[in-house]
Amino acid sequence: MSSTSDPKDVLKQYFGYTKFRHYQEQIIDHVLDKKDCMVLMPTGGGKSLCYQIPALMFEGLTLVISPLIALMKDQVDALKLNGIPAAYLNSALSGQQQTAIIDQLKNKELKLLYLAPERLIGNQGEFSRFLQTLEISLIAIDEAHCISQWGHDFRPEYIQLSTLKTSFPGTPVIALTATADRLTKEDILKQLKLDNPGIFVSSFNRENIRYFVAPKRESYSQLLDFLQKHEGESGIIYTLSRASAEGVAASLKADGYDALPYHAGLSREVREKHQDMFIKDEVKIITATIAFGMGIDKSNVRFVVHMDLPKNIEGYYQETGRAGRDGLKSDVLLFYSYADVMKLQRFVEVENNEQQSQVMLKKLQEMAEYGNLRTCRRKYLLNYFDEEAESDCGSCDICLNDKEQFDGTIIAQKALSAVARLEQNFGAGYVIDVLRGSKSEKIRSKHKQLKTYGVGADISKDAWNHYIRDLLYLGFLSKTNTQFPVLKLTEKSLSVLRGEEKVMLFKIQETVYQTIEKQQE
Ligand code: ADP
Ligand code: ZN
Repeated sequence: MSSTSDPKDVLKQYFGYTKFRHYQEQIIDHVLDKKDCMVLMPTGGGKSLCYQIPALMFEGLTLVISPLIALMKDQVDALKLNGIPAAYLNSALSGQQQTAIIDQLKNKELKLLYLAPERLIGNQGEFSRFLQTLEISLIAIDEAHCISQWGHDFRPEYIQLSTLKTSFPGTPVIALTATADRLTKEDILKQLKLDNPGIFVSSFNRENIRYFVAPKRESYSQLLDFLQKHEGESGIIYTLSRASAEGVAASLKADGYDALPYHAGLSREVREKHQDMFIKDEVKIITATIAFGMGIDKSNVRFVVHMDLPKNIEGYYQETGRAGRDGLKSDVLLFYSYADVMKLQRFVEVENNEQQSQVMLKKLQEMAEYGNLRTCRRKYLLNYFDEEAESDCGSCDICLNDKEQFDGTIIAQKALSAVARLEQNFGAGYVIDVLRGSKSEKIRSKHKQLKTYGVGADISKDAWNHYIRDLLYLGFLSKTNTQFPVLKLTEKSLSVLRGEEKVMLFKIQETVYQTIEKQQE
């Protein structure tokens, strides 16, 4: 279709851009060589061009498999606006519209065809057989992590894509995703049976995003503090439940903010209306469950807040990644509490089979660890995605805090002796309950005799969590690397217990606002 054979010219001619980003150019060259590949690039990185440009340069048709039926129309409309003959087939189209597209396909009038995976395999593969009669130059699999049960967004329809390489032998396949940890990545390659694939991993670092975590106490008033710094800006506030999405939106409205809810309990019309208003800047804040945001391309989202703990880092990173697509400075804030970890843990255990639970609990643990970090958050996130970060980022709450310390020897002694008296058999939550003299029957009846029972009642649960995290960080405690980590004493613990060593702990920052304030000074 294109008279030129240089991808750069196609980039210019059809998309109006002059330079490739990330590994786009290498990926395109690889695809043009008719070789399989897998592309990992953050949301907004520019994955689409990696198959759209080859699609324009190849003779035949490119199939794009995507689970996001709602977005196909937008994607195809955008291509058509750029003068690219593209179409989509999904259940939203009438029989007549579908026939018209089939005719276009037969007449080789299309360069790109977007399909949901079920379309490809449904009806005893009838449609797939029809496609096999056409010249298919390339198959692109968008959101490829949906094929993996270890991913956070598993879709059973995707499993059947494993037959693609048999149905279309010789046709190169490009699998694309914005979220894949090591396990998911391997799974994608295995399931799709890619042939000696090239693997292109772009940096997932989003330099313009600053990461903040605040202990979840009075999260709504903490949220108001945070929003003061983002007056008049667009943002997304994620909640775990539909009810709290509604609740937060209503409270914000009462407090003079412009907010609307978005969740699966609302009718499609209402959801579409709210999303549309958000995209057009007619409403500034959306309070949403994770149902919101898949693929929305709004560039000026200035903040993303998680009122509740997400289930895993992949989901969290994808959601926070919706901030700052325009490259301008944006803030993301997570409210962290141990109670949330426990709550999600219970969900995981009831909702899944044994094997899935294990993987998901591990991911939850890693999410919890992020909330509990004493080291650079960005570094942790990048390491999670197998990326080395050279130095601390200087723009997360940990890096920004001045880490003011105080003599916390007595606090440390209380904690360590509780761990000792509980015979190093329990996790942080339990130890804290004992320290605070929990009235719960389980704890009271068993431990009220202990010398340490209740000696830390004057310190809040959150503060204890904070201090224990510091003690771990400083090496005065360690924890087992098990599903339910158990606190253990270390060599350093003993000298503290004997009163031979002083322990300097970190002061707790009162509000997120304080941290941000500091950076803006
Ligand atoms: P992804 O699928 O990775 O989330 P998209 O393919 O939707 O990202 O691209 C995100 C935005 O970046 C789009 O608006 C796209 O037009 C733009 N874009 C992609 N590649 C380039 C480029 N090389 N130069 C400028 N803009 C680009
Ligand atoms: Zn940092």
